[in-house]
Amino acid sequence: MDDWKKVLAESVTKPKDLAKHLGVDPKEIEDVVGAYPMRITPTVLSTIKSPGDAIWKQVVPEAIEMDDFDAPDDPLEEDTDSPVPHLVHRYPDRVLLMVTNQCPIYCRFCTRKRLVGKPGFLKKGELDQAIAYLREHTEVRDIILSGGDPLLLPDHLIERILKALRTIPHLELIRFGTRVPGTLPQRITPELCAIVKQYHPIYMNLHFNHPDELTPEVKEACWRLADAGVPLGAQTVLLKDVNDDPEIMKRLMHQLLLARVKPYYLYMADLTKGTNHFRTTIETGLKIIQSLQGHTSGMAVPHFVIDAPGGGGKIPILPNEYLLDLDEKGAVLKNYENKTYHYPQPDQSRSRELPMVGASSMGGLCSQGAMDD
Ligand SMILES: *Cc1c(COP(=O)(O)O)cnc(C)c1O
Ligand code: SF4
Repeated sequence: MDDWKKVLAESVTKPKDLAKHLGVDPKEIEDVVGAYPMRITPTVLSTIKSPGDAIWKQVVPEAIEMDDFDAPDDPLEEDTDSPVPHLVHRYPDRVLLMVTNQCPIYCRFCTRKRLVGKPGFLKKGELDQAIAYLREHTEVRDIILSGGDPLLLPDHLIERILKALRTIPHLELIRFGTRVPGTLPQRITPELCAIVKQYHPIYMNLHFNHPDELTPEVKEACWRLADAGVPLGAQTVLLKDVNDDPEIMKRLMHQLLLARVKPYYLYMADLTKGTNHFRTTIETGLKIIQSLQGHTSGMAVPHFVIDAPGGGGKIPILPNEYLLDLDEKGAVLKNYENKTYHYPQPDQSRSRELPMVGASSMGGLCSQGAMDD
C-alpha cells in the first residue's frame, strides 16, 4: 500500500477513537457522525492545540449540526445544473466534474455535506458520459475536478481522467479543487507530481482556512506541486470563530504566499443544512477585505464572493467605500488611508472630433500605455 493510504487509514473516523484522542463524549456525537461522516487525518489531528480551536471547529462533529432543519441540502442547486451525472455546467465556458465523494477530512461546514463521505467514485461509464458531453460542447474550455477531493483518487484513476480530458482539443485548462495538500501532505508524492506534469496547463486551488494549517510539511507539499509547474491558488471560507478576524486572515494570506499559493477566493459560507452555525455577517467579510487591501501585498488579497443561493453563481463584493462617486466627468475614489482622490474621465466630446490618425501617429499613446504598467 502507498504510504499516503496508510496515513489516511490512520485517520480518526469513529466517535470512540475521537474520545481517545480529544476527550469528546462519544455519545454526544454518535448521531451526528451517523448523519454526516467524520474523518480527521493525523496531520490535522496534530494541529489541534486546544478544545474548540480553529482547527477543531472545522473537523470535530457537534450536536448543533442536527438542529438545522430549515436550510436546503443543495443550496447552490448544483443538482439542477447537471446535464450528465456528476457534471455541473453553470457558467458559459467552464464546468465542474465531481470525481469522488471521498475527502481527506470531512469539514463540518461543507457545502456538499449531502454528498461527501458517501461511497462512490465517478464510474468508468460516467466518465465516458462526461467526456462525450464535453466533446460535444465546444464552448467549454476549462474544467474543475472537484468532489469530494480529486486527489484522493489513486494515481492510475487521476491519470485515466487527465488522459481522457486531454483528448478534447477545445479543453484548455484543467483545474483541481483540493484540500489534500493541507490535510494529507503525504499524498503529494513525486509520482503524482510526475503524472500531473504531463498534462499541463493544470492549475490547483487549495482549500485553507487558518494560518495554523500551513505547517512546515504542508508548505513542502505545496512547494512540490509548485515545482511541478502547477500554479496554486487558495480558496477560503469565512467561518465564525475560525477565521472571522482581520489579523487571522492576514496571517493566513501571508502564510499562503510563503507556501507559493496565491489567495484566490474568500467565500461567504453557503446556506447548507447542518452548517448554519458557521455563518457570519457580510460586513465581517468586507472589513477583512478592507484590512488587507492597500495595507499589505496586493497578491495577498483574495476576491470576496458570495455563491448566490439558488444557483446564481459566484458574485464578487467589494466595500462601497472605494468608489464614492462616478459620472461622465470622473470618479471620486477613497484609498486605504481614507484619503479622497479624483480620477477624470477622458473627454468624450473632444475625442470624437479627432481626425482619423495613421498607425505612426499612435506612438505617443502606446508609450503612455507602457508607462502605466
Ligand atoms: C466555482 C465554480 C466554477 C469556477 O468558477 P471560477 O470563477 O472560474 O473559478 C465553475 N463551475 C461551478 C459550478 C462553480 O461552482
Ligand atoms: S474537503 Fe472540501 S468537499 Fe471535502 S468536506 Fe471539506 S469542504 Fe467539503
